[in-house]
Amino acid sequence: MPSQQRPSLAEPRRARPPAHVRVCVRLRPCSQGDPCIRGLDSRSLEIINWRNKLETMQYQFDTIYGDQATQQDIYSGSVQPVLCHLLEGQNASVLAYGPTGAGKTHTMLGSPEQPGVIPRALRDVLQMTREASCSPGGEEWDYSVSMSYLEIYQEKVLDLLEPSQQDLLIREDRDRNILIPGLTERELGGFRDFERHFLPASRNRTVASTQLNDRSSRSHAVLVVRVARSQRAPPHRRRVAKLCLIDLAGSEDNRRTGNRGLRLKESGAINASRHVLSKVVDALNQGLPRVPYRDSKLTRLLQDSLGGSAHSVIIANVAPEQHFYFDTLSTLNFAAKSKQVVNRPFTQETLQTPGARKRPPKDPGAGPRAKRPPEDPGASSEDAGPGAKSPPEEEPPEAEPLSSLLPLEQLDPRLVQRLLGLEQLEKQQGGAGRRLPLLSTPRRERVALLHQLEETRCELQKLKERQKELEAMALLDKACQPKPLDHSKAPARARKQAVVLPLQQVQTPVGQQAMPSGAEGILVVQRNQCQAGHRPRLPMAPGVGSARLGIGPVSPWHRAWGVPGWA
Ligand code: ADP
Ligand code: MG
Repeated sequence: MPSQQRPSLAEPRRARPPAHVRVCVRLRPCSQGDPCIRGLDSRSLEIINWRNKLETMQYQFDTIYGDQATQQDIYSGSVQPVLCHLLEGQNASVLAYGPTGAGKTHTMLGSPEQPGVIPRALRDVLQMTREASCSPGGEEWDYSVSMSYLEIYQEKVLDLLEPSQQDLLIREDRDRNILIPGLTERELGGFRDFERHFLPASRNRTVASTQLNDRSSRSHAVLVVRVARSQRAPPHRRRVAKLCLIDLAGSEDNRRTGNRGLRLKESGAINASRHVLSKVVDALNQGLPRVPYRDSKLTRLLQDSLGGSAHSVIIANVAPEQHFYFDTLSTLNFAAKSKQVVNRPFTQETLQTPGARKRPPKDPGAGPRAKRPPEDPGASSEDAGPGAKSPPEEEPPEAEPLSSLLPLEQLDPRLVQRLLGLEQLEKQQGGAGRRLPLLSTPRRERVALLHQLEETRCELQKLKERQKELEAMALLDKACQPKPLDHSKAPARARKQAVVLPLQQVQTPVGQQAMPSGAEGILVVQRNQCQAGHRPRLPMAPGVGSARLGIGPVSPWHRAWGVPGWA
């Protein structure tokens, strides 16, 4: 349907406000010996410095959840606040990161007794769309929620809802949204539908036993929930947002997992993709021109979530036992640098021209949640793979001219007003020469372009001639000038110095107090000072209380959310 959907003019792209990736850390209960890490308050934690056991290193994050924090604490404190953006047409992502056995699957999926982020988020999203359709003015809109579920196993994208779909391709549409043509999408009318599709699909996920975890996830699992809101009357606005809930496979130290053969190969793929993930975060933080998203399937899929258009939350799961020390340290360092990644969420809205919307005759008995098949607005034609599920129902008629050149009389007058306004604005800003005019006939436009082309050619010709003249003059000058100095004796030009970026870990000599190192918020503290009760306090953000570890932050949402029906 790309030719009949127009990007909304409601929010010009340049007005996208930045949103930092939110990072929280969850400590799992310690199962053995003394923990090597502990929370200090609701935003900071400390871990022993392996270089000097008398010191600790302190880190600051958006939220720290201690071993007493419940599934509800994590959900209401860090996940629920981003879900409201879905109805505004903005993407959101929640990603569980950490080593094998640190509690990622427990956090994301949970158990029937302690449901995790995924069931809680689904219940809330479905509830939100139900409430929105019942609210005043809600009858003007159709809401739909659908889900896809995939895993990345050994660099292959596998469809968990339809396991026969193997190694799907990842594509990008013209709005830089990541799509997987052919991935099965199931419409969700309610939570029961979700359970019906999700629970059997979860059993398709590749898991195996390692020495660290009896049911270690051998793949990255991604649940994609699509929330669409379509206006029934002209101008048929349509907002589509995507919620990605990601349970990563854990990083693995193969000396400790006891992996051999296939397990070792799986582990290699897992560690490689996590390495690329780290490089992506580095590239984004350093503002490098090339971000290596395409170097792994995982990062390609996360392109929206890191440095893209989503409101993203990373939950870094940490295992506190001593033998997890280096895994914990690398998890904290990844989490610290991810905090600096800036996303630019924007509202994904399209307008459909009246002729394009073939709505089925209205069923008088149908409620506000009349279902329509899901679709990918703006998907570039190259994205439509052979197995793509999008219905052919809204194919453009063959004789249709270029999409942006529809006759004015076919458009809704309000829409025409807005398009004209935009075109005027573009002209004022001198952008008309770079893009096609939005409203004009193909003939007029072609003539104008030909004129432009001719003028450019003439200018180019003149420039070439001028260049030749200048070259000739330069040659003449050179011939008349005395011989140049011997450059080998001239002092060498100062070389450009390499810029060394600060490490995530900062270590200071014993006895010297370090201040938090900027955005990373890592502090090295002498342990004997802490033990003597003189622990230096990190500067706290205004409004952050000193809730003790394990109590969990106060929920920003007043509505308590129970999950009695989860089974
Ligand atoms: P991962 O997915 O990171 O490999 P899991 O989520 O499978 O780790 O957790 C490993 C084990 O630890 C599981 O038995 C899980 O129930 C338990 N566990 C993890 N986090 C917690 C927690 N916060 N409270 C209680 N048990 C936990
Ligand atoms: Mg797991």
